[in-house]
Amino acid sequence: MARTVYINGQLVPEDQAKVSVFDRGLLYGDGVFEGIRLYRGKAFRLAEHIRRLFDSARFTALPIPVDEAEMAQIVERTCEANRIEDGYVRLIVTRGVGDLGLDPRKVKEPTIICIADTITLYPKEFYEKGLALITSAVRRYHPESLNAQVKSCNYLNNILAKLEAIRGGTIEAVMLNHQGYVAECTGDNIFLVADGELKTPAASAGALKGITRDVVIQLAQDMGMPVQEPAITRYDLYTAEECFLTGTAAEIVPVTEIDGRPIGSGQPGPVTRKLLDAFHRLVNGG
Ligand code: PMP
Repeated sequence: MARTVYINGQLVPEDQAKVSVFDRGLLYGDGVFEGIRLYRGKAFRLAEHIRRLFDSARFTALPIPVDEAEMAQIVERTCEANRIEDGYVRLIVTRGVGDLGLDPRKVKEPTIICIADTITLYPKEFYEKGLALITSAVRRYHPESLNAQVKSCNYLNNILAKLEAIRGGTIEAVMLNHQGYVAECTGDNIFLVADGELKTPAASAGALKGITRDVVIQLAQDMGMPVQEPAITRYDLYTAEECFLTGTAAEIVPVTEIDGRPIGSGQPGPVTRKLLDAFHRLVNGG
């Protein structure tokens, strides 16, 4: 079924949703975006996603011509127009149409796009049997270049790491930061369970402050499980009792192998399963 896409103030059929070849989002990846999940017709943690989009835009000095409430309405209107109950929304703001030079001053106004679609998660077997990861040689950006908190339209760094994962026979890779500590994966945050605690890299280690990450930290704390954000090495990953990834599209995926080493029992562990159940109860309103 043809989708209806929001572009610059209008809802149009997808084949009419077009951007200029001079759009800086295309020419330079000069833009920011969010991926938002829809559960039972409602955008999950919408305010948090919109806030992060505006923060990404602030970092990139990209003025957004609508406010956060109007942006939330754009998402809601796009979802309604597509009558999607469970799906995924891609919200994009590029700096807009310029010329072929880098200087952004000639750009008149940003391009705002909102696409609502259904989502393909990782195949079901990964949720049951767990995912294998490799560590990528591609490092997460140094915090003083493109900060990891910014969801920019330029994901090449992560795509290079993803290509390594695919060449390595899997689909997701661990990315280390410039100091060699674990940061996150190419499109997901990473958690491990060790010594009865849940551990995940801090934002300062190059982890995006994932919205699913925040939800999982809260769920774990509600269960009485301590959560730490220590410096994490590959040794910590290989010797963990359990490991899993979190992300808007992925939700919670167990990881059962990293760089050829089985993690814990080599099966999705009890803490991961408990958190997955709690997450599903939360998003299904139970
Ligand atoms: N890290 C990266 C690099 C991401 O792109 C994402 C989002 N896909 C995440 C982590 C997870 O963040 P969230 O839970 O907010 O989707």
